Amino acid sequence: MATPEESVVHGSAATPPPLEKAVTPQQLPALDRLLRQPDVVALATQHGKTLVTAQARQLLERLREQALAGALLPSQLAPARLHAALAQRIDEQLRLQLRPVLNLSGTVLHTNLGRARLPEAALQHMRDIAGGATNLEYDLATGERGDRDSLIEGLLCQLTGAQAATVVNNNAAAVLLTLAALGQGREVVVSRGELVEIGGSFRLPEVMQSAGARLVEVGATNRTHLYDYEQAITAQTALLMKVHTSNYRIEGFTASVDEAALSQLARARALPLVSDLGSGALVDLAAWGLPPEPTPQQMLQAGCDIVTFSGDKLLGGPQAGFIVGRSDLIARIRRHPMKRALRVGKLLLAALDATLRLYLRPERLAAELPTLRLLARPLADIDATAREVLAPLQARLAPAFTAGIVPLQSQIGSGSLPTQRLASRGIAIAPGTSQGSGRALLGLARALRMLPVPVIGRIHDNALLLDLRCLEDAGALTTQLAVLQLDAAP
Ligand SMILES: *Cc1c(COP(=O)(O)O)cnc(C)c1O
Repeated sequence: MATPEESVVHGSAATPPPLEKAVTPQQLPALDRLLRQPDVVALATQHGKTLVTAQARQLLERLREQALAGALLPSQLAPARLHAALAQRIDEQLRLQLRPVLNLSGTVLHTNLGRARLPEAALQHMRDIAGGATNLEYDLATGERGDRDSLIEGLLCQLTGAQAATVVNNNAAAVLLTLAALGQGREVVVSRGELVEIGGSFRLPEVMQSAGARLVEVGATNRTHLYDYEQAITAQTALLMKVHTSNYRIEGFTASVDEAALSQLARARALPLVSDLGSGALVDLAAWGLPPEPTPQQMLQAGCDIVTFSGDKLLGGPQAGFIVGRSDLIARIRRHPMKRALRVGKLLLAALDATLRLYLRPERLAAELPTLRLLARPLADIDATAREVLAPLQARLAPAFTAGIVPLQSQIGSGSLPTQRLASRGIAIAPGTSQGSGRALLGLARALRMLPVPVIGRIHDNALLLDLRCLEDAGALTTQLAVLQLDAAP
C-alpha cells in the first residue's frame, strides 16, 4: 500500500480509504493561522521565528502538493498532527550531520570513518585554544610577528632527526607542495612499481601533473634497478622520488632500489631525494608487538633529503601532512605561494602540538595515544568485550537472528601495513532462517546504522560481523539495543 508521501513522489494520485474524503488545497490552514496555533507559538519561543516560519512554510507547501494529488486526509490537518510534523522538521534541521559512530568495521584507521581518534591531550588543547585568541603567529618573547610553523618545528626535528620541518593540511598536500616547489617545469624520476593510488583521489601521476612536474617512469612494475634511475637522469631532472607502496605489496620476482642506495646516486648527481612515506610511524611499532613500518627517522638516516607523511595515520593525530628534511629545501618549500593556500589552522596546530608531545614519553604512549592503544589491544581484552556484548545482542536479535563470538582479523587501514592482520574477536550475526537472509542482513546493518550512535559493521559470508577491537566500552553498544528498530524498512 502506497503512503500519501510516496504517491506524490511517484506522481500518481492514490485512492484515499473510503471513510475519509481527501482535503482540497483550499482547506489547508494559512501560514498565519498555523503560526498562531498555541503549541506552534511555543516552538517559536524556543527556536525563534525565523526557523519556525521557514519550516512551517515548507510543511504547508508539502501538504499542498499532497492535497493537489488528492492524497491528503483531514486527520493530517489536526492541530496535534501539524505540530508534530513541524517539530520533527525542526529537529531534523537542527541535527548535526557530522556525528560520532562506533567503528566495528575491523579497520582501525578507516579513512571513511575519520581515521585516527585524537588523544585526550589533543582534545583538551583544542578546546583551550579554539574559543579565544592565541599566539598562532605571534612571538611572545619579542612581541613581533611570528611563524605558525615554529610552534611545532623544533619538536618535529627532535622526533625525526630532521634539520627543518613544515606542516600542511594533509600528506597529499605535502607531496603536491614539495613537487611544486622543487620540481615545477622539470622532471621527477619515479619507479613504475611505486605509482600509487591512495583511495581513488590521490594518484601519484596526477599529483605530479598538478604540481607542474614531468613524471619520468623508470623500471618495470615488478623490477627497478639503480641503472634505471641512472639512465633517466638528464639536465632536466629536478629530483628523484621514492613512494612507499603503503596499500599494496609487490611479491614474487621483484627488485627495487632502497633509499640508501638511491641517495648515493642522488648525492653524486647533486639531486634531492624525496620520499613520500605515507603513514610514517614516529616510533618502532615492534616495541608493542606490531609489524614494523618504516619511520621518517630511518628515511632521513638512509639519506633522503625530504620525507613527507600523514598526521592521522599511524602517528595517531589530526589530519595533517608533514614535510621534514634539509633546511635549504624546506626553506624553498615554505616560500612557494601554494604553502599559504595549504597551511593549517590553529585548531589543527593545537591538536598536533599536543599529540606530538606525547611522543616525548614513549613509555606512556600506548596508554595515551588511542591509535596505538587500539592496535596493541590484547586479544583477551577484546574477547572480554565480546563476551560482555554477546548475551544482550542475542536477547535483542532472537529469533530473527543468531549471534556468536568468532575470531576475526583486524586491519590497520589507511594504507598502513597492507598485508598485516591483527588477531581480533567479534560477533557474527546470521539470519535465523536462510530464506531472504541477504535482505534480512542488509536490513539489520541499516538498523544498526540508524541508531543514535550509528554502529558500523561489515557483511561477509552471509553474516554481519562486528569486530570489537575498537569498542572499549561495551555499554556504548549494549545501551542502544533498546532503541534498535529491527523492522526498519530498508
Ligand atoms: C596516505 C598516503 C598519501 C595521502 O596522505 P593523506 O594524508 O591522506 O593526504 C600519500 N601517499 C602515500 C604513500 C600514502 O600512504
